[in-house]
Amino acid sequence: MLQSVSETVDPPRRPHATYRFGPFILDTRRRVLYCGAQIVPLSENLFRILVLLVRADGDVVTKATFFSEVWDEEHATDANLAQHILMLRHALGERARDRSYIVTVPRKGYRLAVSTELKAGLRMKGSCERCTALVSSDGEAYICSYECTFCPTCAQQLDHTCPNCAGALLVRPPRRTGTPNATNGVSR
Ligand SMILES: [Zn+2]
Ligand SMILES: [Zn+2]
Repeated sequence: MLQSVSETVDPPRRPHATYRFGPFILDTRRRVLYCGAQIVPLSENLFRILVLLVRADGDVVTKATFFSEVWDEEHATDANLAQHILMLRHALGERARDRSYIVTVPRKGYRLAVSTELKAGLRMKGSCERCTALVSSDGEAYICSYECTFCPTCAQQLDHTCPNCAGALLVRPPRRTGTPNATNGVSR
């Protein structure tokens, strides 16, 4: 039996991050995988496997890592892992034609074939930084490209120019709270 040595450096833990790879968006906070506006249904185990692959950003995820993070000891077998990778390939592949997203690294594990992009998301500041008036995440507010945030009155008084960076102040897109649906607003 081979001594399993983890060769990958642990990627930084970003428990609530959203990632993009190929046509997919992986929202680890809401635990949803999107392909465009469509939700790709995944079991909890498939989701965990995908998160490990995506967080590794193209580096090899060892079998030992999958075994310790996804299953209890009893179910952590090569056969079970291979079967789940196959199911995950199906889930991704059905929507992405015959592109391969998961690469088998013989005897070691698996890695993602494409690089991933971390989507940081807009930090929704709760108040105007000039007059400290409250601005809710779905209320009217103005931001510069550095996310300096101002209420509508101040934005107007500032002539829609940020006093910190001299950049333009534009309307901040409202964030709908409580509806984690990418198809939000699309009528059927
Ligand atoms: Zn203000
Ligand atoms: Zn600014």
